[in-house]
Amino acid sequence: MSATTYNPFENAQIQFDAIAENLGLESGMRELLRQPMKEIHFTIPVKMDDGSTKVFQAFRIRHNNARGPGKGGIRFHPHETADTVRALAMWMTWKCAVVDIPLGGGKGGIICDPQTLSKSELEKLCRGYVRKIWNQIGHEIDIPAPDMGSNAQCMLWMMDEYETIVAGHYPGVITGKPVGMGGSLGRTEATGFGVIYTLKDLLRYMNIPIGTTTASIQGFGNVAEYAAQMYTELGGKVIAVSCWNQADKTAYTFKKSGGCNIAELVKIKDSFGSIDKTKAQSLGYEILHGDDWIKQEVDILIPAALENQITPAVFPNISKKVKVICEAANGPTTPDCDKLIKERGIEMLPDFLCNAGGVTCSYFEQVQCNMNYFWDKAEVLEKLEYSMTKAFRAVYDLAKEKNIYMRDAAYIIAINRVANAVKLRGWA
Ligand code: NAD
Repeated sequence: MSATTYNPFENAQIQFDAIAENLGLESGMRELLRQPMKEIHFTIPVKMDDGSTKVFQAFRIRHNNARGPGKGGIRFHPHETADTVRALAMWMTWKCAVVDIPLGGGKGGIICDPQTLSKSELEKLCRGYVRKIWNQIGHEIDIPAPDMGSNAQCMLWMMDEYETIVAGHYPGVITGKPVGMGGSLGRTEATGFGVIYTLKDLLRYMNIPIGTTTASIQGFGNVAEYAAQMYTELGGKVIAVSCWNQADKTAYTFKKSGGCNIAELVKIKDSFGSIDKTKAQSLGYEILHGDDWIKQEVDILIPAALENQITPAVFPNISKKVKVICEAANGPTTPDCDKLIKERGIEMLPDFLCNAGGVTCSYFEQVQCNMNYFWDKAEVLEKLEYSMTKAFRAVYDLAKEKNIYMRDAAYIIAINRVANAVKLRGWA
């Protein structure tokens, strides 16, 4: 089934409802936690380079702030919808809770295709976003960050606009900024490295040496690149990566049976994570259909691009060799496919645990900004690995103790923590 037939927010609610039922949450608590607490829908007019005005639709949605200020990226994507942002905001609440950082869940989005905007149009869009919601964000309210299609430069323009409006220095208003401008060392790598920290722990428990494994990855953007880098450094072999090609408006899979050379691919990709087809071909890569990444005979599948990619329709294409699905992206598996994955006995590293390295490092960035004292990279990565490993072990141990799917175990831990905060505050 194609990605467009699934609604990510419905998926997020289906996942929540099942665990709420299992935990016996009372109805008021369920009603509160299954929807966002606050939504802002707005437009951003941008004077384009050709003199015309283009109006962009945008969102900032806060799912829950019982455990701390909202936290979550701003996605720049042509197919962004309010429901995608709602789902991502909800998953952020569970993500911050599962890694036990004192933050809630939020998310933003702008319906736009950043690849078609000039630098000055992109800057105007970023500044326009902040002009519309500056009084709804802040290090004590809601802290945005980058997501698909946005980057450190976008965050810096946003911080600068905020500081201009409120007339002061508030680097903790936003994370994912460039290093030297309030950014944290290690933030760029954090999500991808965090994915592999959890994978490494899981494989150790499964008694599989990581150096004997192979993987296929969907996406070659920020998360996928650093996941691939750390995975290959640990001895794993990436057989294929797929990515979107803007010129052809098509996705392709780049395959090398002997293993992709990640450093080589990084050199021929653009800032949006698209690999140059012609250059890849000349380096000996086979170029396959975009969906072929999932068909590879590998031990590990790493979806690191979009939601709703692993569905019952594509499940039969997954090789019997696959032992682990490592959800680097948010919501890549649909709830109806979870059943099939469980039945086949594939281990699932669920998204809001597996890709929590980004928000954990964003939290570190905020802490460093608030102290105005910055740690070196080794210290950041050491703290990151400690947090990811601790969260993974709690989830894994619960899953084994209760003989349940790891996604369910992660949900039980996260929902219990948030529900407890809600109760202590007296909201429900
Ligand atoms: P990115 O914009 O840097 O990269 C996205 C990648 O996906 C690109 O390589 C793009 O070509 C590829 N892609 C897009 N459509 C595709 C398709 N149809 N088939 C194959 N590839 C396709 O984004 P990112 O920051 O790497 O985020 C990837 C995923 O990880 C998203 O789900 C995001 O929400 C999630 N995530 C990101 C972070 C972070 O810190 N960046 C943190 C947690 C979760």
